[in-house]
Amino acid sequence: MTCSEFLKELTDYLDDSLDERTRVELEDHLAWCHDCFVVCDTTKKTIEIYRDSQLYELPDDLRTRLRTAIVEKCQARKAGPQKA
Ligand SMILES: [Zn+2]
Repeated sequence: MTCSEFLKELTDYLDDSLDERTRVELEDHLAWCHDCFVVCDTTKKTIEIYRDSQLYELPDDLRTRLRTAIVEKCQARKAGPQKA
């Protein structure tokens, strides 16, 4: 896998929506490519910051994915066990 292939799959990787084979290939690339490791790590942290503060501008595609994830998380919390 090349770096550009890695970057193309990165959001899906962070989204956990890759098939097993592609995920293994990405992790294999991460193991030896420091540049992509840094990009992956930075993107992951950016997503965490975004989830915490919702202050940062992200690409539309990523924003849509994150919004879906956040909505699902909120709904899961609301649907959780409630004390009367
Ligand atoms: Zn790379």
